[in-house]
Amino acid sequence: MAKIFCVANQKGGVGKTTTTVNLAAGLAKVGQRVLVVDLDPQGNATMGSGIDKRALDLSVYDVLLESSSVAEAKQHSEKAGYDVLGANRELAGAEVELVSLERRERRLKTALSAVKDDYDFILIDCPPSLSMLTLNGLCCAHGVVVPMQCEYFALEGLSDLVNTIKQVHANLNPDLQIIGLLRVMFDPRITLQNQVSDQLKSHFGDKVFDTVIPRNVRLAEAPSYGLPGVVFDPSSKGAQSFVEFAREMVRRVGSM
Ligand code: ADP
Ligand code: MG
Repeated sequence: MAKIFCVANQKGGVGKTTTTVNLAAGLAKVGQRVLVVDLDPQGNATMGSGIDKRALDLSVYDVLLESSSVAEAKQHSEKAGYDVLGANRELAGAEVELVSLERRERRLKTALSAVKDDYDFILIDCPPSLSMLTLNGLCCAHGVVVPMQCEYFALEGLSDLVNTIKQVHANLNPDLQIIGLLRVMFDPRITLQNQVSDQLKSHFGDKVFDTVIPRNVRLAEAPSYGLPGVVFDPSSKGAQSFVEFAREMVRRVGSM
């Protein structure tokens, strides 16, 4: 049965999508069956997996509104090595449309339960907000992966997310936990980043993943080729660290 993880952080540009597609590609590389769910109307995880968001007949929008199943709406990315439930601008409307519907925060959970035996991992790329879309992700997840840059305000920004996760845990999804904080875009030459990294470890202990993702230009270039960095340039430092991270996730899930 699939383990479901949200990649979430209410800040934009912190590396959520890069983490989602590269963790997915890394997991596929070590033999795991993976579905990526794009919950961001920007559709970056869709494009970055090699699926054209403008050409989607069905998307996660149709799944949330229950006019399509996941099995019908998902696509296989041959190049990336995993399945994608894509998103595009249409999804921005779902936020408003869901408000008046029943079970509005459990739509994705219900839909994914039909495919949970088809995958080992389902990764959900969340939008940069704590919205109804993110709530749908958090309601169905076993854990949250939080990518973060080791910068001055990093810890401060975490408290809103941690509070939201606590509330969802208490009211909607008792399974939910932070599986870990992932240090991304890390530059060991910058003293401040090392200091914040140490702070993170003393605050959160083993909730901080061992793997550190370095700042690496190949990871930033890959999306313009419609590929995860792990596939675009497997020998790059960034790609190698995401494959290592995939192995760490498999180990952690084994002990969950
Ligand atoms: P989010 O999904 O949180 O908005 P993205 O994953 O889109 O963040 O990343 C924001 C920007 O930073 C993108 O241009 C991405 O290519 C770049 N980026 C992300 N991770 C790295 C990294 N490890 N090294 C270099 N650039 C990165
Ligand atoms: Mg994103």
